[in-house]
Amino acid sequence: MKKRIISAITTTGKITLGNYIGAIKQIVDYQKDYEVFMFVADLHALTTPFEPKQLQENIRHAAALYLACGLKPESATIFIQSQVKEHANLGWVLSCHTTMGELQRMTQFKDKANIKTANGTEKIPTGILTYPTLMAADILLYDVDIVPVGRDQKQHIELTRNIATRMNNKYGEIFKIPTESIQKHGAKIMDLQDPTKKMSKSSSNAKGYISLLDDVNVARKKIASAITDSLNQVKFDPENQPGVSNLLTIYSVLKNMSMSDCEKQFQGQNYGVLKTAVADVVCELLTTIQNNFKQLINSSKLDDILKEGQQTASKLASQKLALVYKKIGL
Ligand code: ATP
Ligand code: MG
Repeated sequence: MKKRIISAITTTGKITLGNYIGAIKQIVDYQKDYEVFMFVADLHALTTPFEPKQLQENIRHAAALYLACGLKPESATIFIQSQVKEHANLGWVLSCHTTMGELQRMTQFKDKANIKTANGTEKIPTGILTYPTLMAADILLYDVDIVPVGRDQKQHIELTRNIATRMNNKYGEIFKIPTESIQKHGAKIMDLQDPTKKMSKSSSNAKGYISLLDDVNVARKKIASAITDSLNQVKFDPENQPGVSNLLTIYSVLKNMSMSDCEKQFQGQNYGVLKTAVADVVCELLTTIQNNFKQLINSSKLDDILKEGQQTASKLASQKLALVYKKIGL
């Protein structure tokens, strides 16, 4: 039997090159050998301020982009989280088996909540604290083996394992214990304007990230104005040369080349040459994705694929939730 993997992107904004390299590209590679579940994490998007119309557009765009990036409905179940009600349902049960302390220790919570004053929590939606339990539900509903993620999500997968193990110990075998998979390079693509910060789609500075739907000329300009340094040497050294190392990472992942081969290729060259090469490979990728996207975004084919995904996912999710309810005495 094929091993099962699951991944998702939250619809908090435009899907970025960071999301592509850290999540989508991996999933596309995996679909040959694994049974893939890929969903649009729209419930997670409610944890940050949103406009209903924009949210709706982001959801549809995300689903179309998964396909445009090469996910195949024959090998992947592609669906929208809110259309499979069991996610929220199991999320509640899991939140009752998770402590406040565990959730408050999550680095992502500390980063996102950024509580500075005693009554600082008044401004933070509870979902920012509890979403890791929804994320645990997303994973545990489907008995997945592997969750490919960026490095920022490692802690949440550990929490998922802890909750699952805790419940298995208390109620008998319910959940399969998943492991994360984090690739060596590209696990964390950095912001182009502040290479010490992760590239994020919810960033307030659009110059720092490349959206997969950015006009290629805009993308080219963003890469050209990416922050580097004054050392004038193309070297992979994230600590001392974060900007240059980030550009090298993007290049090496998209070219499928080893880091040392990339360093050799740009040895003795100036940063302009590196930036042009990175822009070329990124724009080639964007062009392909955007052409596919245009064919899909308003098509009934997309609706059909999502409907089928919902049916496949719902079947498994409802079986798992029924088992959970039975085991815990509901
Ligand atoms: P947000 O700012 O809303 O948190 P995000 O860009 O961090 O958005 P997520 O929806 O949180 O995106 O993450 C989706 C997937 O993309 C996850 O697997 C995450 O690890 C991965 N990912 C996100 N940002 C990056 C990045 N800069 N480099 C590599 N992988 C990333
Ligand atoms: Mg994130």
